[in-house]
Amino acid sequence: MNKFVTAVNCMDGRVQEPVVAFMKKQFGATYVDMITEPGPDGILSEKKNEKLIESVRDRIAISVEKHGSGIIGMFGHGDCAGNPVDKNKHIVQTMDSVNLIRSWFPDVKVFGYWIDEDWKVVEIK
Ligand SMILES: [Zn+2]
Repeated sequence: MNKFVTAVNCMDGRVQEPVVAFMKKQFGATYVDMITEPGPDGILSEKKNEKLIESVRDRIAISVEKHGSGIIGMFGHGDCAGNPVDKNKHIVQTMDSVNLIRSWFPDVKVFGYWIDEDWKVVEIK
């Protein structure tokens, strides 16, 4: 059976394949719906651009409602051109974003992840 999961990720080319590979392995997914922005953790936590936040929410909704995704990964990474903050701030912003996404989709499991300097994915607890 085809299983979709969802990733909210940076548009940075370096983090696409690591995130797809991680989500497939971690959750036994067939497909990963990828919702990308430059530094999405900054966009969703700073709440400066309502239109963009709405666009992210609408795209997650398609993944959840049309593809039946029950799992969303929210990813932050270092050396992020779209959101050039330090690691601690990324971690805080990623978890703020997780909480926002949880408020939109209370029936879906939402996890926060950090992508380290070796492009390895680590869960933020
Ligand atoms: Zn980035």
